[in-house]
Amino acid sequence: MAHVVVLGAGLGGTIMAYELRDVLSRDDRVSVINKGSVYSFVPSNPWVAVGWRERETVEVDLAPACKRRDIALYPQGAKRLHAAENRIELTDGTSVDYDYLVIATGPELAFDEIEGFGPEAHTQSVCHIDHALAAKDAFDRLVANPGPVVIGAVQGASCFGPAYEFAFILEKALRDAKVRDKVPMTFVTSEPYIGHLGLDGVGDTKGLLESALRAKHIKWITNAKVQKFEDGKVIADELNEDGSVKTTHEVPSAYTMMLPAFRGVEAVRDIEGLTNPRGFILVDRHQQNQKFQNVFSVGVCVAIPPMGKTPVPVGVPKTGFMIESMVTATATNIARLVRGEKPNAEGTWNAVCLADFGDGGIAFVAQPQIPPRNVNWSSQGKWVHAAKIGFEKYFLHKIRSGRSEPFYEKLALQVLGIDKLKAVKFDSE
Ligand code: FAD
Repeated sequence: MAHVVVLGAGLGGTIMAYELRDVLSRDDRVSVINKGSVYSFVPSNPWVAVGWRERETVEVDLAPACKRRDIALYPQGAKRLHAAENRIELTDGTSVDYDYLVIATGPELAFDEIEGFGPEAHTQSVCHIDHALAAKDAFDRLVANPGPVVIGAVQGASCFGPAYEFAFILEKALRDAKVRDKVPMTFVTSEPYIGHLGLDGVGDTKGLLESALRAKHIKWITNAKVQKFEDGKVIADELNEDGSVKTTHEVPSAYTMMLPAFRGVEAVRDIEGLTNPRGFILVDRHQQNQKFQNVFSVGVCVAIPPMGKTPVPVGVPKTGFMIESMVTATATNIARLVRGEKPNAEGTWNAVCLADFGDGGIAFVAQPQIPPRNVNWSSQGKWVHAAKIGFEKYFLHKIRSGRSEPFYEKLALQVLGIDKLKAVKFDSE
């Protein structure tokens, strides 16, 4: 009888627990350790920040689904992982032992790396529901007292889709409030060009996003390295190809929202052989850590090297479908280990993203992430907005029901030509 613990119940951890329940036997135990017992759908936060969603509609109480699926839920949160002892110390002083562990702790937001950055200082955030609710209050103040806006992503950021998404959503919300004409908007990004997305572009994301920004009168600055945020302005260096400073911009801003760089959470940081210097979890193609071979990882906390050198550092995005593919591979591999077999399943680590613009949007599929690719596709249209709402409703339903992937979802993914797992060898190696 094995005890499998999932650390973190966000987008990756929740479905991880459900999929483990599907592939393990009734005698095996599955536990989830999270900060609190509520699941929050992060991709809806840009909508929360302009009042298009209320907190209650994007959150799910995990207790009933976990009870139904026989998953033990520890809402205390982890203080420290003791990987050499197969033990997690919780914040209340108790400990949970495991045979296998899946780390799914998402990102820690590195606001402290830039002066004046973050919701405690001079900028707004959509990375957490509490931040998005505070950003909504700031949006209301902006509508009452319009002024310039800066949206974007700072040096070291990897999550560019939500930055573009939020620029266009905010633009639409300001138009709806009839104050857009009083709000000059600038998109400030560490990407070397618009639409790079940490992926060196996907299909024609450069052309599509430049054209969309132009159509909405949003100016942009690329290769931007923010020096600091002050009350009322953003001070950023625009770098040349060789890393030297081309221009220093002082952009006035009454409302700023920029995506931060991510790093691993404190509970798992600085463990020799488990984490890289930024605290991301080192895994192989089976999602398995090589030093601690009973430890796996899925989601944003997984270490993925950047695509290539850029004047300002940018990371690679980890989107929902990629995370789901990591989850399916991990569930398969842990079940194999429990049965005495070797791991053999690999996630596809592709990027599938729907960036909603409020009344339209851009979708892209990059498979694999590193060019040249087998699928390198981007497109735009009103359907993207509808598809994003569908993604939200469907994902929340999945979390509430406690079931990860009904057959019709599998079918839809296969119709799109996207498989979650690379073909696996069916021998027992
Ligand atoms: P999270 O969902 O962040 O979950 C991490 C969990 O770990 C949390 O529940 C947290 O409480 C818990 N945790 C952390 N530390 C501890 C601890 N010490 N002890 C216990 N628990 C802990 N991707 C898409 O595909 N489509 C989108 O539209 C999209 N929009 C996004 C919008 C925003 C604003 C952001 C930031 C990301 C978006 N993403 C999107 C990317 C990605 O899908 C999400 O970030 C997703 O939530 C990542 O899932 P995760 O499981 O890795 O982390």
